[in-house]
Amino acid sequence: MTNKDPMSDSNSHSKASFRTRAVHVGNEVDASTGAVVPPVHFATTFRQPGAGVWGEYDYSRSGNPTRSGLQATLASLEGGVGSLAFSTGMAAIHCVTMLLSPGDMILAGSDIYGGAYRLFHRICDRAGIGVELVNFTDLDAIAAAIRPETKLLWGETIGNPQMSVLDLPAIAGLAKQSGVLFGVDNTFGTPALLRPLEHGVDIVMHSATKYLGGHSDCLGGTLAVSDKALFDQLYFIQNATGAVLDPMSCFLLSRGIKTLDVRVRAQSETAMSLALWLKEHPRVKRVLYPGLEEHPGHDLAKRLMGQHFGGVLTFELAGTKEQTAMVCQSTKLFCLAVSLGAVESLIEQPATMSHASYAAADRARFGITDGLIRLSVGLESFEDLRDDLQASINAVPAECHARRQSCLREPPRQGHACCRATQESLLRSSRAR
Ligand code: PLP
Repeated sequence: MTNKDPMSDSNSHSKASFRTRAVHVGNEVDASTGAVVPPVHFATTFRQPGAGVWGEYDYSRSGNPTRSGLQATLASLEGGVGSLAFSTGMAAIHCVTMLLSPGDMILAGSDIYGGAYRLFHRICDRAGIGVELVNFTDLDAIAAAIRPETKLLWGETIGNPQMSVLDLPAIAGLAKQSGVLFGVDNTFGTPALLRPLEHGVDIVMHSATKYLGGHSDCLGGTLAVSDKALFDQLYFIQNATGAVLDPMSCFLLSRGIKTLDVRVRAQSETAMSLALWLKEHPRVKRVLYPGLEEHPGHDLAKRLMGQHFGGVLTFELAGTKEQTAMVCQSTKLFCLAVSLGAVESLIEQPATMSHASYAAADRARFGITDGLIRLSVGLESFEDLRDDLQASINAVPAECHARRQSCLREPPRQGHACCRATQESLLRSSRAR
């Protein structure tokens, strides 16, 4: 069977800027109609020129024109030889792990998405693949942990939820020395701000559900690589296992990517303003944002990313798990939801939501404390977002946790967000049962 070669980047824009390529590469005017937006190809199968003679496309799992357009855009933006679009980010990470064999080991950073942690510990282990977590900001620890069985280093360019920043060139150097693949999840960094392949990384992955799509309305995952043989292996696994991205989602992603650079830079500026405001707040213990000078990864982030540091930030409230939950439940503009990277701002508590899949001991070990709150900053104004946070923090009095039991028993006190939120959540869980 042939397949449409997703590596063909038949464009005349290879020297154009990132923004220009995001709009034009892979989105060429439709030759047959002149449509400036390429048609979406929903066909699952394609007529062939003859029996056993394969055309450019044959079957949509193996290749689809709409997916090829998206993959051409991504390969160009990442600076890779090719890119692959998957049904979700997890499917993309899973594809990478399928390069490994029983007995191999993954050495992963300790500041990774809870779903990746679960995949490594509870799915890959079934195939006899081991995993070890180390602090990927500690190069000596990485070097010491690489063993003969280690076949893949896996990290997040900007870690989650500590917002740690990886020294990509240095880790890539270690990986090369040891003959190990180095893959990164660059979901938080986005190709607009950071292009890991340029720093020697072998595989870059995105949960396209986040910034690439940008509007909380489609799931997707991507991989890009700069080595043709590696691309072929990943394509083989994807085609054999089948977790490709559907045409409608490819269209939504292609549309989202056109505005990626503008969105991410605006979101980064608002995130920076919020980080500066939060760090002066009396109820906030610490703010984790690579844009802040005091962040341990700040200089590295500046070197890798320039002047913008992404739209996600984490802060630690001086308070209990319950108080932290109350703050997350009390915002009006920030929506209480997992995920990130879209035009609307989201808030969540990593300990009970995005990182609930971590074993409790690992949460404690890697600093995922009960007071952590993660914000995904959207495109609303800084002033409105700041006022929303201020109101929700104020609505949960510092001493409120002491009254929690009475909050659960008594009727809500008027205007008291803690009592209201506690009772509402109690009502929801009793309905769920
Ligand atoms: N990587 C990161 C950093 C994420 O935040 C997520 C999802 O939240 C994923 C990977 C998984 O992506 P998906 O939900 O598209 O499978």
